[in-house]
Amino acid sequence: MGLSWKPIRHGQVYCSSACGRGCTRLAFEKATACAKTLARLLPGFKPRVWENLGWYWEVRCGSLTVGPRDGRGYSATYDSIIWADGRTPKAALQRLAAAWTKHSCSVDFDARTVRGIVATAAKRKASQPAREARDAK
Ligand SMILES: [Zn+2]
Repeated sequence: MGLSWKPIRHGQVYCSSACGRGCTRLAFEKATACAKTLARLLPGFKPRVWENLGWYWEVRCGSLTVGPRDGRGYSATYDSIIWADGRTPKAALQRLAAAWTKHSCSVDFDARTVRGIVATAAKRKASQPAREARDAK
C-alpha cells in the first residue's frame, strides 16, 4: 500500500500517511476557518486548504492568491510573477495592485480587478481573518 495524501482522523490527530507529521484536527479546522472567512471577504475567491507537514491555507481567484505569510502578515501573488506582502490581506492586495501598475505586464490581468477586490474587502472589514491567523499561532 502506497502513501496517501488523504488525511485520517485519529483522536486529535488529522494527518495523511504521506505527511506523517501528526498534524492536528485543530490546525486543520483553524486553517479551514481562516480560508473560508477570507474567501467571504474577497468576492470571487475560493478557499484552499492543504496538508504538507502542517495545515496551510490560502484563497485563490484564477492566478491571484492571497494567504498568510510565514511569521506574520499576508502575501498576495499573481501567477508567481508578481507578489506583495502586507500586514492585512487588503494591504497585500493593494501593494500587488501598485506593483502591477508599475510593471504594466502584458499578462492577461487587469489591475482594476485587484482595486475592486480591495475596495470591497475594505467595506467588509478585512481585519477579522488577520486576528484569527494570529490566534492560530
Ligand atoms: Zn500531516
